[in-house]
Amino acid sequence: MNVDRITEKLNILADAAKYDVSCASSGSDRKNKDKGLGNASNGICHSYTEDGRCVSLLKILLTNHCIFDCAYCVSRKNNDIKRAAFTVQEVVDLTINFYRRNYIEGLFLSSGIFKNADYTMERLVHVAKKLRIEHNFNGYIHLKSIPGASEELMREAGLYADRLSVNLEMPTEAGLKLLAPDKNRQDMIDPMRFLNQEIIRNTEEKKLFKNAPMFAPAGQSTQVIVGATPESDQQVLQSANYFYKNFNLKRVYYSGYVPVLADKRLPALNTAVPMVRENRLYQADWLMRFYGFHVNEIVNNQNPLLDLDIDPKLSWAIRNMQAFPIDINKADLQLILRVPGIGLLSAQKIVAARKFARLGWEQLKKIGVATNRARYFITCKSNEFERRDLTGQNIKQFIMAQSQSKYIKNTQTQLNLF
Ligand code: SF4
Repeated sequence: MNVDRITEKLNILADAAKYDVSCASSGSDRKNKDKGLGNASNGICHSYTEDGRCVSLLKILLTNHCIFDCAYCVSRKNNDIKRAAFTVQEVVDLTINFYRRNYIEGLFLSSGIFKNADYTMERLVHVAKKLRIEHNFNGYIHLKSIPGASEELMREAGLYADRLSVNLEMPTEAGLKLLAPDKNRQDMIDPMRFLNQEIIRNTEEKKLFKNAPMFAPAGQSTQVIVGATPESDQQVLQSANYFYKNFNLKRVYYSGYVPVLADKRLPALNTAVPMVRENRLYQADWLMRFYGFHVNEIVNNQNPLLDLDIDPKLSWAIRNMQAFPIDINKADLQLILRVPGIGLLSAQKIVAARKFARLGWEQLKKIGVATNRARYFITCKSNEFERRDLTGQNIKQFIMAQSQSKYIKNTQTQLNLF
């Protein structure tokens, strides 16, 4: 093996892959079998950097050669950059070597499109197949599904990968047309629909036949780039909501656009990466998936943009002061979940603990409630309610004065993996 050449390829293809953030490895229950390598069920330690990116996987492109010319992408065909391509065997060897050295828990493999979708997808599948069959590798594998690849290849990919993802890239069809005129949104939707059907079919099959092979046990995800096109947060979140509901996605990843290319259709090169916005979108996404919020409660025609100064739950609360205060000792779980400063776990603990005694501020603090926020929105045993005659705006100012958000500095750069 020519180590220098491999290292050079690794530098190029890991660097090109860092713009894809859809690499979290949650949700797989693949077990180590036959004394093989790795264990995706509990061997994966999620390691997130300050800006929320996952670093526990070997995250590379098979190649950064591409026949497309998407304006937002460093690998676009008209960008004058160094190109490289791994062979299938090189990716397999790297994964095994890195895994044995404990550098990684799995592989995230994407690719530019060379020749055509099937030609590329076939190679991605081949990597996963070799790892599973020849090396008995039980670590986590996330494969990018190449839009336009045949259903046979997608089906095969699902047999070896834990997660598959098709990137929507832009939140709307209009955004995609603007920046990637060669691409067609339907080419992304079709494989997502196919994967969804296969995952459902496999779940049913597993109920009947315990030994039926797994198909993409960690489901499918997608990524949208925010800030490259002028879509509002309302458009971004409505699009995410649509795909969660209709395609059973495990995750939508929001990637703040990193301006690396000069193009009159794109934000200027010195535009800051919208990291705060990206973080607020993740928080809003969390509210939709775990806190029972409807997308229109978070963003709507009156409020199409998320408030960058405060989190979306606090933002909703101060716009809906008529819903408060709520009595923490009586309110339903769903209502408690809407209180700023009370997370999912704390809300569940409150409901469990109040069966034995009425809760006051001290107990709430012990449970983990951020009382510096929650005190404006609840009453408890002490009956002391801190809102008094404050308006939502007053509360926002008080809370902002107290908190030093780690995301407030909008200057972080992209993560360098190697
Ligand atoms: S198809 Fe993918 S790799 Fe190719 S230019 Fe578009 S975004 Fe980049």
